[in-house]
Amino acid sequence: MPLARGAGTLSGMDFRFSPETEAWREELRAFLRQELPPDFEGDDDFFDNEEQVAFAKEFMKKLGARRWLAPAWPVEYGGMGKTPIEQMILNEELAYHRAPHGGRLFTIGITGPTILVHGTEEQKRRWLPEMARGEVWYCQGFSEPGSGSDLASLQTRAVRDGDEYVINGQKIWTSNAHVADKMLLLARTDPDVPKHRGISAFIVDMRSPGITVQGIPNIAYRRDFNQVFFENVRVPAENLLGGENQGWYVATTTLDFERSNIAAISGARRTTHELVRWAKERHNGRRPFDDPKVRHALADLTVDCEVGRLLAYRVAWLQSKGEIPNAEASMSKVFMAMLGIKVANVGVNLLGPFGMLTPGSKWAKLRGRVLTSYLLSHAGPIGGGTSEIQKNIIATRGLGLPRGD
Ligand SMILES: Cc1cc2nc3c(=O)[nH]c(=O)nc-3n(C[C@H](O)[C@H](O)[C@H](O)COP(=O)(O)OP(=O)(O)OC[C@H]3O[C@@H](n4cnc5c(N)ncnc54)[C@H](O)[C@@H]3O)c2cc1C
Repeated sequence: MPLARGAGTLSGMDFRFSPETEAWREELRAFLRQELPPDFEGDDDFFDNEEQVAFAKEFMKKLGARRWLAPAWPVEYGGMGKTPIEQMILNEELAYHRAPHGGRLFTIGITGPTILVHGTEEQKRRWLPEMARGEVWYCQGFSEPGSGSDLASLQTRAVRDGDEYVINGQKIWTSNAHVADKMLLLARTDPDVPKHRGISAFIVDMRSPGITVQGIPNIAYRRDFNQVFFENVRVPAENLLGGENQGWYVATTTLDFERSNIAAISGARRTTHELVRWAKERHNGRRPFDDPKVRHALADLTVDCEVGRLLAYRVAWLQSKGEIPNAEASMSKVFMAMLGIKVANVGVNLLGPFGMLTPGSKWAKLRGRVLTSYLLSHAGPIGGGTSEIQKNIIATRGLGLPRGD
């Protein structure tokens, strides 16, 4: 049974890139070869040391100076007016080269486009150019200890007091909050209406008095996400985004952006390519590629990487036609999460005991990246909306099945 929009979508699809688009990709690759050290291994957005943050900040500004952080934004807000496909090629190349992310997802991928849709002209001019220059990094303050999948149940309060709102409450799992300058925050402004109708969105300066950021070490003992506490934090009313009690519309727009997952797919492709290279070399007198099981496992990953890439490009293609991908984006997210786990599993099996060594070990193969990917891959089906929630979307919006209780 085809997806409601699927059959028509595929029939109009052209799998080739235009010569201009190919030239754009080559230009990006040349820049990345020049700017990143030859043995650069990337950071996966892991900001636990100052050197790494400084390098990422400088790199973001270099991209910003060329208007390459947000090429698909209008020129007046710091972009180049390029297409979603061209933006996606940028994201794909950056991820493949493991260039520092610097919170790009939350800044350029999520908050910026949300401001483009819901911001006033004054807000767009105030917030977008500084993002596009790479000077300001954002985080996303949505989830709370009791509100993840059921986001609309969030409890953090925002109470109007003159020209300001006073925020009290707690956010959790906030990626990059410890290095972000600003937050896109959801808070409850009216507790007496149905839950979706009493939420507002704000842009909050992370240096405001009353904000405490506390790191949460993750499965790989890294500090990627945080708890963020708000105690009488004052936010100017002009930082309200999309009108009071309109936050749910802002949130749903936000969640519709940057849903191609190309960065994760591209990272999986890079690791697959490295595993193929490794398998072709001799290790302790034997070449893993000579084993048919190894060849099949790597062939299998290669098929999946191509499928993932096409699912991701379909999302950008729909966006370039002015459509908002729903079930298509959810399919890409579910697939990406599965692919991340599969690549990491194959990698650990292939490297054997060496696959268990941490990045710091001098005996670690592929610099210990496979172990880190193995551990972190389990976040894939959770972050950005769990796989179960994505499947609910595919079932209801894609297949037209009833919601069920
Ligand atoms: C690496 C990582 C980074 C993150 N970064 C951020 C961030 O920057 N900002 C932010 O706001 N949040 C962030 N999150 C939080 C993330 O959005 C939530 O973890 C996610 O939405 C799930 O919410 P929850 O953890 O409260 O789980 P719950 O919603 O409690 O879900 C628990 C389990 O129940 C299942 N479940 C729940 N409801 C349903 C349903 N209706 N149908 C079927 N199954 C269901 C879920 O799929 C899951 O398996 C991050 C999470 C991770 C792992």
